[in-house]
Amino acid sequence: MKTYKIAAIPADGIGPEVIAAGLQALEALARRDGGFRLDVTKFDWGSARYKKTGALMPEDGTEQLKAFDAIFFGAVGAPDVPDHVTLWGLRLPICQGFDQYANVRPTKILPGISSPLAGVKTGDLDWVIVRENSEGEYSGHGGRAHKGLPEEVGTEVSIFTRVGVTRIMRYAFALAQARPRKFLTVVTKSNAQRFGMVMWDEIAAEVATEFPDVKWDKMLVDAMTVRMVRAPRSLDTIVATNLHADILSDLAGALAGSLGVAPTGNIDPERRFPSMFEPIHGSAFDITGKGIANPVATFWTAAQMLEHLGEKDAADRLMRSVENVCASGIMTPDVNGTATTQQVTDAVCEAIRSENI
Ligand code: NAD
Ligand code: MN
Repeated sequence: MKTYKIAAIPADGIGPEVIAAGLQALEALARRDGGFRLDVTKFDWGSARYKKTGALMPEDGTEQLKAFDAIFFGAVGAPDVPDHVTLWGLRLPICQGFDQYANVRPTKILPGISSPLAGVKTGDLDWVIVRENSEGEYSGHGGRAHKGLPEEVGTEVSIFTRVGVTRIMRYAFALAQARPRKFLTVVTKSNAQRFGMVMWDEIAAEVATEFPDVKWDKMLVDAMTVRMVRAPRSLDTIVATNLHADILSDLAGALAGSLGVAPTGNIDPERRFPSMFEPIHGSAFDITGKGIANPVATFWTAAQMLEHLGEKDAADRLMRSVENVCASGIMTPDVNGTATTQQVTDAVCEAIRSENI
């Protein structure tokens, strides 16, 4: 029997609540299918560790994670630690250290959940956003000169490389090709950003020739927000820069009903290193400890993780169980339900156990 070594990093806020839920569902699947086992190691990295030791994770943190098949991540961020410290101290070192250059964010309206868009139902919005996850606006270059003085200057440098853009474009075209509609939308801002973004457009056209059966079009990111709201059916697979896709995917999550149902995989397509799976949402201080965090995003990202590990049947079973539970109305308050995190989790585990497929 295969055993997968999973590193769980629940971290902050509702992170531990949703990761606990996700691990229960994964356990139920492993027991039900019997085809694999999970060997889970929990890491106490996050803001509490930062407040005690001055670092969110140990210096050899990524070295420790190398031994795992995948990383299951909650959320990082605390009210009394600056957000740039938590982001750059934990999540980004893992994404960048393991060159997880493809951030894959599926979005659809699950049964029983309503979109804030009038008349848009399950099936009308079914997207995968591919976020370039290694460079662009998150490349870490820039600085502040004359700090605090009237002449202070702050710069944030977006770096795009031909290698980086080509590999994400190939990933996105291949993903679009594998989906029924075979349709990709390439998002840039090449009217205002004349260098890196114009290079994106050119590389998209070059890579497109390798995928003659994929239809594709181009959008400027501002117009893209309008299209997502006004014509959701006109989109399928979407590729955008690190920052643009970060923003678009929060919008996508909201249009699909709640940030609490939106998953993401930080993937190293070449499988040199472990990939990392997490809900899109953050640590949600406003609901931490109340037991009402929506675990669906974490279940969905657990399904992404299983699929990445080669357990497609278990991943499909998990998603069917989640969809059945959502359809039956057992949902948390963010999607107009009255159930707690644990009640949704119990219902999903029960659906996993009792499904007769
Ligand atoms: P957030 O995602 O934590 O919360 C935004 C809103 O969505 C809140 O009202 C919250 O209650 C709601 N929400 C989020 N997840 C939910 C869930 N599973 N169920 C029900 N409701 C949910 O974003 P924020 O408030 O901008 O950020 C809070 C902290 O999280 C900050 O420190 C931020 O830096 C951090 N953050 C971390 C990540 C990450 O770890 N990947 C991502 C985004 C934000
Ligand atoms: Mn984000």
